[in-house]
Amino acid sequence: MSALVPETATGIVTVDLSAVAENWRALAARVRPAECGAVVKADAYGLGADRVIPALAKAGCRSFFVATPDEARQARRLAPQAVIYVLDGLMPGSGDDLIETAAMPVLSNADAVREWAALAQARGLRLPAALQLDSGLNRLGLGEADSLTLVTGGVLARLALKLVMSHLACADDPDDAKNGQQLAAFRRLSSHLPRAPLSLAASDGLMLGADFHFDLVRPGYALYGGQAFKGGATPVKPVVRVEARVLQVRDVPAGETIGYSATYVATSARRIATVAAGYADGLFRRLSAGDGETGGMVSIAGHLAPIAGRVSMDLITVDVTDVPGVVARGDLVTLIGPDLPLEAVGAAAGTIGYEVLTNLGRRYHRCYVDGDA
Ligand SMILES: *Cc1c(COP(=O)(O)O)cnc(C)c1O
Repeated sequence: MSALVPETATGIVTVDLSAVAENWRALAARVRPAECGAVVKADAYGLGADRVIPALAKAGCRSFFVATPDEARQARRLAPQAVIYVLDGLMPGSGDDLIETAAMPVLSNADAVREWAALAQARGLRLPAALQLDSGLNRLGLGEADSLTLVTGGVLARLALKLVMSHLACADDPDDAKNGQQLAAFRRLSSHLPRAPLSLAASDGLMLGADFHFDLVRPGYALYGGQAFKGGATPVKPVVRVEARVLQVRDVPAGETIGYSATYVATSARRIATVAAGYADGLFRRLSAGDGETGGMVSIAGHLAPIAGRVSMDLITVDVTDVPGVVARGDLVTLIGPDLPLEAVGAAAGTIGYEVLTNLGRRYHRCYVDGDA
């Protein structure tokens, strides 16, 4: 795949669109007869909605979740036939835009439901809508009292309810008692509402078993190769590889320091490769090593090598002393890939793989591999 990359590219993100499609098919098979949608918010988690949405639509995905009206407009252009849900719901006065996009707001508070119902009445339409119930996350979602008021007040009858959903707080941990509590709360709260398809699970929740699947699951991270669920392997494969070029290799004598603020002291002679990616490319500064702390790792020709010194804006310095063979100027170093999964990079940076993925910088040369095309 490097053959496609121009020599001038210092950093490369390779997205395997066939793997995205394959991951979607594997999750769809796992949750059948429930439907498998796809969450493509935040530019498909930073991987490029322009390429990811058509690949998923071609694989058979029909329901897409975005966060914002702008993302909905882009998704509509890329997937003309799809059902598009807007997770941020209805901003005051934004209804006309959503109707024009043929996107459905996920209505999560009583004011938004009333506004959408009023718009439906004004236009003489039964507008489609999704409702979000709060089952214990306390982020977005109608509480029990509000949803009962909306039902008894006849407001919901003015809308075509297409989906009733909620979101889990602790689904990455199969042993967390909150999962069962939220499941019971979702069943109870949704039973008050007119009948509609139900949805509770994201990437991790769908691994909790069939009780959590209902009619539709909403994975995002797992489609992109993420392993959020801690109770076993999610049946997906890596999608993204991030590489950067070695700019030079130097021998650093014992006693010298490496990088800004001289936090890293070479206690013995070290061979250091300077690599063309830094925090401006999404390599969190927390991956720095020095002041007695170890930092992140990169992979060179299949061998892991530690970052030495501070991560700077455009560069990292990597200790390649123990890498067998010659590391040379122009070589590609893997920052994220099959041997350096998102979760490992996230853990080293004191965060989660989701944040690593959605922070990939804008100046990487991007390659899309699509065996299906
Ligand atoms: C982001 C999001 C998802 C997808 O979550 P993943 O963990 O990436 O699968 C699903 N539902 C809601 C409400 C979300 O905000």
